[in-house]
Amino acid sequence: MSFTVEERGIPNSLSYRLFFKNSEGKYISPFHDIPIYANEGQKIFHMVVEVPRWTNAKMEIATKDLLNPIKQDVKKGKLRYVANVFPHKGYIWNYGAIPQTWEDPKHKDKNTGCHGDNDPIDICEIGSKVCSRGEVIKVKVLGVLAMIDEGETDWKVIAINVEDPEANELNNISDVDRLKPGYLKSTVDWFKRYKVPDGKPENKFAFNEEFKDKDFAIEVIKSTHNFWKALICQQTDGGELNCKNTCISSGDSPFCCSVNEAQAAIGDACPCEKEEPIPSSVDKWFYYDKV
Ligand SMILES: [Mg+2]
Repeated sequence: MSFTVEERGIPNSLSYRLFFKNSEGKYISPFHDIPIYANEGQKIFHMVVEVPRWTNAKMEIATKDLLNPIKQDVKKGKLRYVANVFPHKGYIWNYGAIPQTWEDPKHKDKNTGCHGDNDPIDICEIGSKVCSRGEVIKVKVLGVLAMIDEGETDWKVIAINVEDPEANELNNISDVDRLKPGYLKSTVDWFKRYKVPDGKPENKFAFNEEFKDKDFAIEVIKSTHNFWKALICQQTDGGELNCKNTCISSGDSPFCCSVNEAQAAIGDACPCEKEEPIPSSVDKWFYYDKV
């Protein structure tokens, strides 16, 4: 199964969108139409890369837009870039989402005591390759961190690209500490502090800031897949979420839309134009004492 992307609008501007197509050239939603599993028996999952490692633009699947293209988060009318909290530069993994998952805001997690954040589950891929925005990769899940962001449950799955040269040696969360010493500790540090330069408090974590293992992570992913299933067949009200899809049979989803309707969604957006520069302020390094 392979996927391609199509850029629209002006890169690094409010108009930028990245749309997805399947191998038949049909427009799809990366949220709903890319299967969660690349290989269910071997527990290999698909990951949609939203943010390549070392970049700052907070790109994400637009859950409320038709066909859910990737676009940059906007705050107070401005494009959002994550701050570089010393010694980090941008995201320190390839960052993205597992398709066909949803953290239901009506569900209170028994581990964190907090409700879901209304997004697909987040995933950090720790391989050596810097992936590209919109790349759909196959990953092996290694563990999960239970972040609590302003009172919402925000799981961060840790995974490795199956094509990474070290993938065979990485099979559980303990292997990460052994083969990539410091990476997990830095991951907690990154998530704890990345919003502080924007005037937000440090994020909190369940389980005493410890990562849970592979089996636990897979159970969490499965539960978010079940929430997504309820969403896509309209058992749950998704509010403003856009659940239109092109590949799920209409028997399973009332939101299935025609190829023509999907094409029309793209038709409104202009093809990719010359890019705007990224502001130099994005390179600033922020320092502060850990509390
Ligand atoms: Mg999230």
